[in-house]
Amino acid sequence: MEPVVIDDLKVDIHRGGLLRTLRAEDTDDGRQILALLDSALGVSSPKAIYKEAFIDARGDDYVVVEGIEFKSRILRINLDGAHRVFPYVVTAGRELDVWSFAVTGMLEQYWADKIKEAVLHSAFRDFTSRLIATYSLGTTAVMNPGSLDDWPISEQKKLFQLLGDPTAAIGVELTDSYLMIPTKSVSGIRFATQTTYENCQLCPRENCPGRRAPYDPLLYENRYKAISS
Ligand code: SF4
Repeated sequence: MEPVVIDDLKVDIHRGGLLRTLRAEDTDDGRQILALLDSALGVSSPKAIYKEAFIDARGDDYVVVEGIEFKSRILRINLDGAHRVFPYVVTAGRELDVWSFAVTGMLEQYWADKIKEAVLHSAFRDFTSRLIATYSLGTTAVMNPGSLDDWPISEQKKLFQLLGDPTAAIGVELTDSYLMIPTKSVSGIRFATQTTYENCQLCPRENCPGRRAPYDPLLYENRYKAISS
């Protein structure tokens, strides 16, 4: 299938929630943040690129998707019952980056960064619900190159290759160290599954503000470790 570009992702940011996060409710700072938010929303244009892709082959610690081999034991096991996947890149957009470069003052730049983050989260939520509805996926899970040692960030290159040309399509570039520009961008592979999975279940990092599931120290051993012959 050809990659699909979405350039009308909805951004719906809860103003009270943003002010609470920035500890700025009912303050002058809060009023400045909301003015900055309005200015950001006036220029923001988040976008996504994704495709419906099919699995060609699988081994002990890899899967081949449309001729591209992704090397990860965890991805391989998570895709046990799957025949198709949805690689994607979602970005808050270059327009917002350009906007934020013009913001002056350290505190204001911090607020602008948090606003860009909120735009990305909101756009990502819209992208995910549209993808799930379009393909009637039901329960899904997602894996991202670089979030676990098992699937290194260098595999970003293959993900971009699978999607064709995300730079031309939505303005997201991959650096030599496999980071995305604009930095407020996310990439991964989503798939339908009956098994609950979050990368965080396998990640021991303490005090992570983004944690979505508790660390399970036995999960790798129980679900993913290869049985040696
Ligand atoms: S705990 Fe934090 S660092 Fe670890 S996978 Fe989850 S979000 Fe990423």
